[in-house]
Amino acid sequence: MYYGGKRKLEEQAKKEKNKRYITDEDINRENYRFVRTEADDAADTYEARLAQKYYSKLFREYCLADMSFYKEGKMGLRWRTQEEVINGKGQFVCGNLKCDNDGELRSHQVNFAYLEHGVRKSTQVKLRVCNKCAYKLNYKKIKKMEEDMVKQAKKARKKKKEKKKKEKKTLRKLLEIEEEIKQHLEVVGRATRDTLSAEKKTKNDNLESIRKHSRSPSSESDSQQRSKTRSKKRSKLASSSTSSVVSTHSATHDEDQFLAELMP
Ligand SMILES: [Zn+2]
Repeated sequence: MYYGGKRKLEEQAKKEKNKRYITDEDINRENYRFVRTEADDAADTYEARLAQKYYSKLFREYCLADMSFYKEGKMGLRWRTQEEVINGKGQFVCGNLKCDNDGELRSHQVNFAYLEHGVRKSTQVKLRVCNKCAYKLNYKKIKKMEEDMVKQAKKARKKKKEKKKKEKKTLRKLLEIEEEIKQHLEVVGRATRDTLSAEKKTKNDNLESIRKHSRSPSSESDSQQRSKTRSKKRSKLASSSTSSVVSTHSATHDEDQFLAELMP
């Protein structure tokens, strides 16, 4: 069943309508199924038996592919003809209808989803193609993977950017906090200095006042004591001088007495 073959089928159906008789080929075309099921073979009619016979003669080991619309993820598949099997097309030569490469061939299990007589069906088929055609076969899958990788890389970049932004924000906040602490410490330091100097001043004042209070009576007593001592000393001196005077005087007196005795 080729992609884009709908128009062809419609044209054929139109032609068949205008025909006067129906051939076995027409019956086979009408009753053909890409993959026959038990339900398809259940009907015991001439048409069903003919289609079954045709189907059994098909070479269904490998498929051949029309990859014209591979970029849209669409592909047409059909079984090989006897001639193609003999020539090795699809087994020893690439299974892409437009490729004759016979090197580096690999078998691929393809999940083929298709629409047949208005019914959506899917089946697993084997397709043997070269590396270049394998890329076409998996084009959509590869593109999706590439897109996913680009998306993931973009996401990772965005995440990295956000992380960096967050780190920058945190750093900025930390610096702000540091600045705040610095300012606070300066204020506290200034206040402490002021308090200390005030306390020192108060202490000095107190000391000064204590000194003043304590100096006045003690100085007086000192001076008193000193004056007392001085007066004591003076009186002592005075007494000694008196005695000397007295002694002198007594001496004088004695001298006078002596002189009087000497005198007639
Ligand atoms: Zn190929």
